[in-house]
Amino acid sequence: MKIFINNRFYTEDRAKVSVFDRGLLYGDGVYETMRSYNGRIFMLGEHLRRLRKSAELIDLKIIWSDKNLTDFLYRTLRANKLKSAYIRLTVTRGIGPIGLDIKLCKNPTLMIITKKFIPYPDNYYTKGVKICMSEIRRNHPLCIDPQIKSLNFLNNIIARLHGKYFEYIMLNLNGYVTEGTVSNIFLVKDSVLLTPSIESGILPGITREIVISLARKNNIKTLETLIKPEQLCSADECFLTNTSIEILPVKKIDTRQFSSPGKITQFVQSEFKNLVRRKLDKDKVILYNMTKDSST
Ligand code: PMP
Repeated sequence: MKIFINNRFYTEDRAKVSVFDRGLLYGDGVYETMRSYNGRIFMLGEHLRRLRKSAELIDLKIIWSDKNLTDFLYRTLRANKLKSAYIRLTVTRGIGPIGLDIKLCKNPTLMIITKKFIPYPDNYYTKGVKICMSEIRRNHPLCIDPQIKSLNFLNNIIARLHGKYFEYIMLNLNGYVTEGTVSNIFLVKDSVLLTPSIESGILPGITREIVISLARKNNIKTLETLIKPEQLCSADECFLTNTSIEILPVKKIDTRQFSSPGKITQFVQSEFKNLVRRKLDKDKVILYNMTKDSST
């Protein structure tokens, strides 16, 4: 794999950042994970918008235009001859002397890592996955706001330490459901779709946003609200969303079993697939060209 760091490509063994990079020293940086389908990055505009929002919340200047970032991303895909890929774009505050003052650091570091997208097994989608409630609470928005997709990921890592479940759901400090360590959560009760509100303390997932809008367009009553763990356990259906898994039904949460995938989950799964197809057909995108850049 070729890794893109500050406008140059490196082989994996040479792709290194300084021990003085604040991403390493302090988790001081932001990132996005994206997915390309057939050479096109899905919801790229939304990912770049969220990257800028995360950066703004930590006063980190993204010095590159969207056009620059798009170019870097597609160049990395081409350099690696990848069409269906997992893509991670990381921006750290850059290299500076030890010390917390952000003025010590002038030039952000930008890195892009890609790898071939390997889908989860089919039975995850047809039968569902097992998840559990974590004892770890989600960061309070006044500590590290979960809306910031930051390199400081220990809250989520601790929530799933040594775990054997697909995902771990965290409550907030007031005891309401927030999200999984890498996904948003939805439940269905009496044909109403519910998901924790942004105010619950979650990352505003791009897949979550798509699901909400698809559901509303199809007249499924959808609420973004505070959700108690008991509501989760008494739900009829439950599913997770993120860029890589798309929409993944949950068959069991702790000891509670769901009909999986339930009717609304299946409907949202198929609407999402249709949307991916439609968007990729229609998007005016940089057409994938295998030969260009492959010598970098
Ligand atoms: N919550 C967290 C904590 C995440 O890391 C992710 C993955 N980015 C999500 C939710 C889902 O977000 P998206 O749908 O944009 O991938």
